[in-house]
Amino acid sequence: MKIVDVKCAVIGKNPVVRIVTDEGISGYGEVEQYKPFLKPNILYFREALIGQDPTDVERVMLRIRPRGGFKPWGSAVSVIEMALWDIAGKAAGLPVYKLLGGKVRDQVRVYNGALRVPMQSFDPADYAEEAARMKALPEGFTIVKQGIAFHSPMKEAVPGFYYGDPPGQHKVFHGFADTGTLTERGLKHIVACVEAMKEVLGDDVGLALDCGPGFTARDALRFARAVEPLNLMWLEDMITGDYTQYVNADVYRDVTQATTTPIHTGEQIYLRQNFKGLIEGHAVNVIGPDPCDVGGIAELKWVAEYANLHGIMMAPHGTGDGLLGLAALVQVCATLPQNFIAFEYPAGNPTWWYDIVDGLPDPIVKNGMIDVWDRPGMGVELNPERTKPYLSEDDADFFD
Ligand SMILES: [Mg+2]
Repeated sequence: MKIVDVKCAVIGKNPVVRIVTDEGISGYGEVEQYKPFLKPNILYFREALIGQDPTDVERVMLRIRPRGGFKPWGSAVSVIEMALWDIAGKAAGLPVYKLLGGKVRDQVRVYNGALRVPMQSFDPADYAEEAARMKALPEGFTIVKQGIAFHSPMKEAVPGFYYGDPPGQHKVFHGFADTGTLTERGLKHIVACVEAMKEVLGDDVGLALDCGPGFTARDALRFARAVEPLNLMWLEDMITGDYTQYVNADVYRDVTQATTTPIHTGEQIYLRQNFKGLIEGHAVNVIGPDPCDVGGIAELKWVAEYANLHGIMMAPHGTGDGLLGLAALVQVCATLPQNFIAFEYPAGNPTWWYDIVDGLPDPIVKNGMIDVWDRPGMGVELNPERTKPYLSEDDADFFD
């Protein structure tokens, strides 16, 4: 089998790659909705892919992997990897999880980081209200994640929250660039909001917090210690994280080793090599690579296996990965070792995505879990007829 074409369409805001073969099989992969600008980056790899056998996934990846990078630049490489696995599975007549070593679970747990409504104000009562709404969702999530502190407008909305530069002054792109020492008022405010959420969620639903980046190491430790009695699932990305182009494992280690609250990072990191410091140094308790950023699903599995050898847990990121990304997460997470906690459930955005993707269960999530499906490849398909109305003029030949 040979690759004969590589196409990319921006559907909604998600760039979608289609790898076309000479045997009538196509493979698909989807970039997260925050990166509509990556279409040229995907097409940049066209020449390197044409003529290759897509079922030798690793051999093909060796040709393109050096041209990726930390978020957002690893996405093009990552979604091509997923499209290759989709083809390999379809060609073998097997679900992708079989090619990754087989499943170790029939259901995968998901946590809610995507089905949230934008908050208008950021006081404890607002957080309690949003926690109640998330707890009542029909998906029955057993873990929810909320953005606070530097990973939310709280830093701007709460007067005197921190001693940094004027809020938002560095922010040009999507991502989080504010940082600074918290005021005592700021620290107390965050803790009060977390207590309010826990009051609602009780011990029925686990609570994780997306926190930064932006905390200083000392504030990160103060906060982690202050919430120790609340038994949180994890504190995510306090020091580095979303779009940070480095890891700072040694700084994370100082925090992690001094608190019982689990510390989490990793969504922006590209390739297994860049997890070495975090994993070997026991610098965090949980890591959250995103298959659409880390280099693909096999890359994520490598990281998970290595983390498991070191007693580090896995909670993969995925909020913007869309419905094809959801399928990829289900396939790989079915195969992860027992350090798997849950992955972040991606939503279809806009909601017409649910009309153009065939093969997903209905409902998708029951009691916070997704049943692993058995169709070949990723097991989901873009329906060409129903997708075409959403293609731009530039992408009109995507299915040709
Ligand atoms: Mg995050």
